[in-house]
Amino acid sequence: MADLSGKVAIITGAASGIGLAGVETFVAAGARVVAGDIQDEKGHALQQRFGDDKVLFVHCDVTQMDQLEALMNQAVGHFGQLDILWNNAGHGGTPDSLEELDLDAYDQTMALLLKQVFAATKFAIPHMKEKGGSVINTSSISAITAGYAPLTYSVAKKGVAHFSKMAAAELAKYKIRVNAVLPGFIATSIFGASLGLPREQADQMAAMLVEAGASMQPIGRTGKSEDIAEMAAFLASDAAGFITGGEFVVDGGMTVGPRHSWDETAGGPL
Ligand code: NAD
Repeated sequence: MADLSGKVAIITGAASGIGLAGVETFVAAGARVVAGDIQDEKGHALQQRFGDDKVLFVHCDVTQMDQLEALMNQAVGHFGQLDILWNNAGHGGTPDSLEELDLDAYDQTMALLLKQVFAATKFAIPHMKEKGGSVINTSSISAITAGYAPLTYSVAKKGVAHFSKMAAAELAKYKIRVNAVLPGFIATSIFGASLGLPREQADQMAAMLVEAGASMQPIGRTGKSEDIAEMAAFLASDAAGFITGGEFVVDGGMTVGPRHSWDETAGGPL
């Protein structure tokens, strides 16, 4: 397990799925965590579960620049420092094809998936530039290959990955490392939420995906939120001190190649 003792992290999209596993993993690794999300009930329950000496929940809609900037200030106000920023909040965004694309929906999707990553990282710099830090951005395998997610989402996630490289180059002078994690198919409520289902139903759908999606990966099981959280914890730790500008695919082999090249005993055809 990564060692995050003495570090303070912000994780957005922390009330559910990958972000929630991030809070659990980072706290187990010794970090204190500020959990940002728009799901207040879940966020407050998370703070209560760990106590506010370990986890502080802050309501933060990452598309609202004032809330995003306040998130950084609240983290430093409460825990006295900021070492790690994991930009993770997300949603499937507009499912429109290019021909049907509603351009307002495009703007909203880009604001949620891409602009917030620019903005949060920019707002974190003053708090990290004296002693360095680690920024982790949740991209997706849809950034590297078509067929896994809608057009606008996939382009935004490509932007997140390339932003991570460009920011890594710019911020290396402050010893701020920036990396992207590219999850494959992870059983979370994002799928139901993106279909517009109420969160409770989306959460139930996530549980069903664990079984239903197992054969989509050569490794023979669906991804768990913890699989991504462990990678993020490593990237956040000093053990990853020489790693910046990287893109880390965590997908159980989903993108290794065409299905016919897989060992059928590892999952078999769909
Ligand atoms: P999830 O729905 O379980 O969690 C997403 C969280 O983001 C939720 O708690 C939600 O309330 C929060 N959120 C949504 N809009 C927000 C906003 N405007 N401000 C603040 N918080 C907001 O889904 P997840 O799968 O854990 O998604 C986490 C990240 O992983 C997303 O960026 C997603 O695009 C990415 N991702 C997921 C998968 C997958 O298969 N699950 C694959 C690749 C990438």
